[in-house]
Amino acid sequence: MLLTFSRLIVLLCAFFAEYCYAQKPAGDLYGEQLIHEPAYEREPIEKQPLPGGRWYRDTQAIMGTEVSIELWHKNTVHAEQAIKAVMAEMRRIDGWLGYGRTSEVTHLNQLAGSQAVKVTSELFQLIKRAIYYSEISDGAFDITFAGAGKHYDYRLGVLPNETTLVASLAAINYRHLQLNEALLTIGYAHPGVNIDLGGIAKGYAVDNAIAMLKQRGITSAIVSAGGDSRMIGDKQGKPWIVGIRSPRAAAATAQVPIAIPLSDTAISTSGDYERYFERDGVRYHHIINPKTGDSARQLQSVSIIGDKAIDTDALSTTVFVLGLEKGMALINQLKEYDAVAIDAKGNIFYSDGLAKP
Ligand code: ADP
Ligand code: MG
Repeated sequence: MLLTFSRLIVLLCAFFAEYCYAQKPAGDLYGEQLIHEPAYEREPIEKQPLPGGRWYRDTQAIMGTEVSIELWHKNTVHAEQAIKAVMAEMRRIDGWLGYGRTSEVTHLNQLAGSQAVKVTSELFQLIKRAIYYSEISDGAFDITFAGAGKHYDYRLGVLPNETTLVASLAAINYRHLQLNEALLTIGYAHPGVNIDLGGIAKGYAVDNAIAMLKQRGITSAIVSAGGDSRMIGDKQGKPWIVGIRSPRAAAATAQVPIAIPLSDTAISTSGDYERYFERDGVRYHHIINPKTGDSARQLQSVSIIGDKAIDTDALSTTVFVLGLEKGMALINQLKEYDAVAIDAKGNIFYSDGLAKP
């Protein structure tokens, strides 16, 4: 509902947010360095004496990022139980899809190159959704990017040499994934295939968290996992204000050049400032163009607004890889989503739904 509202005033906000936020330290909602304030509006919440409840919040390091929950509740025990249940769900997804030994994705990557592997229907559906985004983006979003991605280490500043990179490209193609829905099996048509669900898993986790909170009757909440956020309702009568940070500002002092008022919706941001290192003046970061195996460099940041975080998450990565022209064309075609993109020079662009009336 407030998406329409946001469409009307987002530009206004963009122009005046610099002024509005001038005195406010904004956090890095979107990076693993996030240890500060999330970028959504943060008032001293316990001091809001609204009748019938109060705000509860928690932040934990899970899924290689910061997971935070803020919810309105009138019962402390139930609020704390809800937060605990959501954090447990985040941990479950981290263990299930992450890089550890117990991960179903790890298991698949180890075996599916030589045989079809039976998977849970949950993983099957998630991979199907990922493939849908490959199909609508001509392979810009592709979970098999990991064939090249696994050769980078952004913490240690490691990148593959040319030979390794070129060899890895043969294993990158979502069409290598052979899905049998009747048997719930997945096989890899090429032995070198590796999948990584990092471009969609956090959004999925946020959606699950939101479903759990709704089931518990919660009507006002925000859940974020790194750059993926989704809200239930509004912030007790006001929209949630979600900030998009300036990609080149230092995280701790990052200005929020764009502030978007939202409710009952999801927003995801992909940026090249989250996991990266620089070598010879070139930035190597964690969003990979599957066609080249190299980082996508047309844009610095992409935010997508839509109903569900699984979709905004996948689409933010997709548009980041597609670049400004193709990315915006895709979003303008998908009427239920909007985008804000920041290009390599720091210019800000909006999809049609957010553009000036
Ligand atoms: P973050 O994980 O930082 O929130 P994004 O949603 O932007 O970020 O997704 C980036 C992650 O997506 C990478 O860390 C990687 O796991 C995965 N990824 C990178 N390139 C691609 C791609 N072309 N297609 C699908 N997933 C990708
Ligand atoms: Mg994403």
